[in-house]
Amino acid sequence: MRAFCAQRLRRDRSDKLSARVRRVLVKSLYTQPSSLAIGAVTTVAAGCAAAWVEQLPELYIACAVLTVIATARVTAALGLSPDSNSTSTNMLELIYEVGAFSYAFVLGLMGAMTIWLGASAEVTVLMVANALCYGVGVAARNAGRPSIAIGQLTLVCIPIIFACLSTGSVALIALAITIMLLIPAMMSIALNIFKTLRESIAAAETSAQLADKMQHLARTDVVTGLANRAGLNHAMVETMMAVDDDSRRALVWIDLDRFKEVNDLLGHPVGDRVLSEVAKRLKDVCPEGSTVSRFGGDEFVLFCPIESRKQAELIASEIHAEIMRPVRIEADRLEVRASLGVALLPEDGKDADTLMQSADLALYHAKVGGRAQTRFFDKTMTRDLVRRREIEDELRAALQRDELSIFYQPIVDLETGKIRCFEALIRWFHPEKGELRPDEFIPVAEETGVIVTLGNWITAQAARTAAKWPEDVSVAVNLSPLQIRAPGAALGIRNALREAGLDPSRLELEVTESLFIEDNHATANFIQELSAIGVKFALDDFGTGYSSLGYINTFPLSKIKVDRSFVSGAHVGRKSEAIIRAVAEMGSTLGMEIVAEGLETIEQVQTVREAGCTLGQGFYFSRAVPDYLASMLLAQERDGDLRQITG
Ligand code: C2E
Ligand code: CA
Ligand code: CA
Repeated sequence: MRAFCAQRLRRDRSDKLSARVRRVLVKSLYTQPSSLAIGAVTTVAAGCAAAWVEQLPELYIACAVLTVIATARVTAALGLSPDSNSTSTNMLELIYEVGAFSYAFVLGLMGAMTIWLGASAEVTVLMVANALCYGVGVAARNAGRPSIAIGQLTLVCIPIIFACLSTGSVALIALAITIMLLIPAMMSIALNIFKTLRESIAAAETSAQLADKMQHLARTDVVTGLANRAGLNHAMVETMMAVDDDSRRALVWIDLDRFKEVNDLLGHPVGDRVLSEVAKRLKDVCPEGSTVSRFGGDEFVLFCPIESRKQAELIASEIHAEIMRPVRIEADRLEVRASLGVALLPEDGKDADTLMQSADLALYHAKVGGRAQTRFFDKTMTRDLVRRREIEDELRAALQRDELSIFYQPIVDLETGKIRCFEALIRWFHPEKGELRPDEFIPVAEETGVIVTLGNWITAQAARTAAKWPEDVSVAVNLSPLQIRAPGAALGIRNALREAGLDPSRLELEVTESLFIEDNHATANFIQELSAIGVKFALDDFGTGYSSLGYINTFPLSKIKVDRSFVSGAHVGRKSEAIIRAVAEMGSTLGMEIVAEGLETIEQVQTVREAGCTLGQGFYFSRAVPDYLASMLLAQERDGDLRQITG
């Protein structure tokens, strides 16, 4: 069955190909109608000259008929446009055939007439030679359609052969035989030309088709079938060239939030299905004439025609709603979120590159601003980018120039009110820009790799400060995943401890969930190696990530820090309280301490304490302070608790 289908498919393809090749060959018949006209004029002129010399009215009539046929043929050639598909190949061929055959036959007849009517030898030679030359020439010219070529040659020759044979003259009989032999000879030549022509046209067609296919593939994303980066670029450039200046478009750049986690936790096949589903929804939502593309990974870019900014806002919010709709994969319901950056043509960029940059920048702001949101490009974003670039340049120098320092924020025992630990938080006092928040420059340090040097410096500094505190007070240092994956990461920490003379059990390293998403040997070794010498690990910002709890059992974590959005965020309520309670319960079962972050009021302190958190951190107790103030806080503690927490 399959073999049959394949055979059919092949036949269909070859039929289609031969139909296209045939069309090209038929089109070749219609090229140069001027040559048709010139041929006809010279032939009619020769005919008229012969008729005048011999005074043969029959020849005049033949000339008139020839003129009518030639005029009809030239008119048809000019009027029918074989390039457009309005006339079928068969019809084009038929029209040509009728004209060509009648023209050839009349021409042959004119040659034969000179023999029958006993014209002078010169005039006979003129007309017979004229007809034969035409027959031979046309057999080569029209070899693209051999039936026509052979038909014309035969029709031109037949009247002359008959005329020659009818005279009984030996010379003319010899001529008739010669012409009879000429026909098969020319037939074979025409067929040979035809074969070569057909093969080369078919080869050219096949390679043109292949080139088309390759180009299509090069512009298509295999996973989703959407355009890829090259496809979008092509579409953008084409549209921008084709549309007029006042036409408007929106470029929407979409980045799926935390898609990497879906891929890493559920596997690439599931990830691919999510991408395909998102692609389908995007196609459904986009207005007609849009290009929907996927830029590798989890980024999609849409280029759509719009009438107003309002419409672009509407499209963006529809896209957002569509993506947020849970994706069903077998029994699972996956929630996908996305950040969107939108730039408009022409106000945010007049060419493809600028428009892309603007949308990219808007997307960046959407992501930095907390993800799962849409941002439209505005001019201040360019200024922010400049600021980022400046930070990037100045960060390396800042370390040497002593502009960075570490502040310490106490982490307090919620039972006793005693400081158990200080979290080291970096501060940058820039001579011109003032105090820069870590949220602003840590991501830049991560992107540029400076975080490794910076992180080592922070740990060394924090260890040195902590060595001066009482022995029951430890120090917590934030570590970026990048820093941990860097070669020699564990060694850097051990060196810092040794140089500061700090007991490893007084150092706590705060890591985030994102570290555990990837099954990385380097991470596991790092944690194992440092745990073995007594260093503790705390899970930071708990509740903001993917919250797959598997790794809590796998890795030796001693603390969980519940993110401050559960304590003092905008959405705090019964639900977040229940979550804190559940986490605290899990902590006590697994022998971990639970820290509540972001405590700003006594009520919050009481709530989290009642929910079962053992430690607290936040402005209620103290902001992050310089090292000498941290020592003062510890000294104060000797006189009484830091803050009254039992209310
Ligand atoms: P984080 O690790 O969650 O640090 C706690 C952040 O919450 C600190 O912001 C702290 O000042 C702030 N905070 C503490 N109590 C309260 C409160 O009651 N209310 C409010 N609204 N905020 C409170 P900070 O110092 O700006 O640091 C921000 C983030 O930057 C940190 O979040 C951490 O992820 C990163 N970071 C800070 N220092 C370092 C560092 O030395 N290394 C690395 N890798 N990252 C750091
Ligand atoms: Ca932290
Ligand atoms: Ca935190």
